[in-house]
Amino acid sequence: MLEFNLERVLTNVRNATTDDLLDRATVYRSEMEPEALRIIDKELIDRGVTVEQVQAHLESRQEVVARPDGTVVKCSFCWKPAIESGWSWHRLFGKIPIFPRKLARCGDHAKSAPGSS
Ligand SMILES: [Zn+2]
Repeated sequence: MLEFNLERVLTNVRNATTDDLLDRATVYRSEMEPEALRIIDKELIDRGVTVEQVQAHLESRQEVVARPDGTVVKCSFCWKPAIESGWSWHRLFGKIPIFPRKLARCGDHAKSAPGSS
């Protein structure tokens, strides 16, 4: 069990993007330390985030992939909540398929997203 480190959390929160903090304050809320949440909530208020912005953020995250226990699946490539998940081959040297693994993808990394293949 990791000990709660106030300094570490403060630095992390101050360096995080507002989008990231909004995700932690909303979709990941049930997984966050209460102490960390207080810091995140305060940081969002300090950044001037409005209730309308939080609402809009939540609406943009409605399609997130949730586990049966209600926790949210994170994108395999970044910190954003995943909107789709599926099996993909883990490839040795990027070529030889070794074993299938489950990959979760956010809106940016979704197969249907422009620029990804
Ligand atoms: Zn992603």
